Amino acid sequence: MVVVVEQNSSEKLIEGIIKVLNDFGFDVHRSTGMNQTVLGAIGVQPDFDLRQLEVLPGVAHVYRITEPYKLASRSFHPEPSRYQIGGTVIGGDAIVVMAGPCSVESEKQIFAIAECVAKSGATFLRGGAYKPRSSPYAFQGLGVEGLRLLRRAADAFGLKTVTEVMDSSQIESALEFADIIQVGARNMQNYTFLRELGKIQTPVMLKRGLAATFEEWLMSAEYILSGGNKHVMLCERGIRTFEPSTRNTMDIGAIPMIHSRSHLPIIADPSHGIGIRTKVMPMARAAVAAGADGIIVEVHNDPDHAKSDGAQSLFPEQFTEMMGQLSAIASVIGRTIA
Ligand code: PEP
Ligand code: MN
Repeated sequence: MVVVVEQNSSEKLIEGIIKVLNDFGFDVHRSTGMNQTVLGAIGVQPDFDLRQLEVLPGVAHVYRITEPYKLASRSFHPEPSRYQIGGTVIGGDAIVVMAGPCSVESEKQIFAIAECVAKSGATFLRGGAYKPRSSPYAFQGLGVEGLRLLRRAADAFGLKTVTEVMDSSQIESALEFADIIQVGARNMQNYTFLRELGKIQTPVMLKRGLAATFEEWLMSAEYILSGGNKHVMLCERGIRTFEPSTRNTMDIGAIPMIHSRSHLPIIADPSHGIGIRTKVMPMARAAVAAGADGIIVEVHNDPDHAKSDGAQSLFPEQFTEMMGQLSAIASVIGRTIA
């Protein structure tokens, strides 16, 4: 940590700051120039609250030089993490495509969609059985029956499953049916839930919170990793900004930024990222070009009658077209579509 002292501070003030740092247990290295002093403090614990120093008289700025997250950081684990799930590797050269409806609605619907997305090259079937809806009156998902249908449809077409779990009480049933458990954006900072997910070994896809910084997102991943579940991947799904014409603002920059800070694979969700069907494909292309390790996209056989997120769901033909485009872009950057 670096503590920049206000210019022209008295020796007494500087010594006072050094004493506080020593009392906190830090080793202090002082550099003094013309009228500027900078203090290097070694031995800062990840949970140290920088504001305790920022409020001291004479302190101009305090900067952390090591990240507060450890297990999620690149410095701790320089190589990208790779997880083998069935025959598919996430985080390798091949980009994984997860596709399916927002919600599992019926046997007929999920089987029809599973067939289309499998044919076009998806490896995972997505579909929510527990839905985080803004309105309590909106369709909330089929629950365990939805999980069962998702699994059966996936197995029928050689796919793996990814599905959202909204709280700890749903984990046990999901373990039976899910290859990846999705934590939704609204739950990214539900720390008791994240701790429970740390106790299982099923891979977890942690979506970025609606207004979460990279650090907050990686700290949430740290909750799961520190509990003992080493299979965490992140998902950029758009953030809330001042722009009202798209559902969210998809932060493509998060993909290379997270890759430089963390070894965890990052999946992109262009469906929630922009929220408009005709704009999903360009966002998916951008995400692959930016280095995403996977794409999760909503596809529906009858989006006009979907029970949730029809307006951002691709028609099966659009999904097929998108797959062709993604594989062309992947080859430019030396990758393939899994
Ligand atoms: C979803 O995947 O359908 C979903 C609800 O996602 P998010 O948590 O990103 O809103
Ligand atoms: Mn959705």
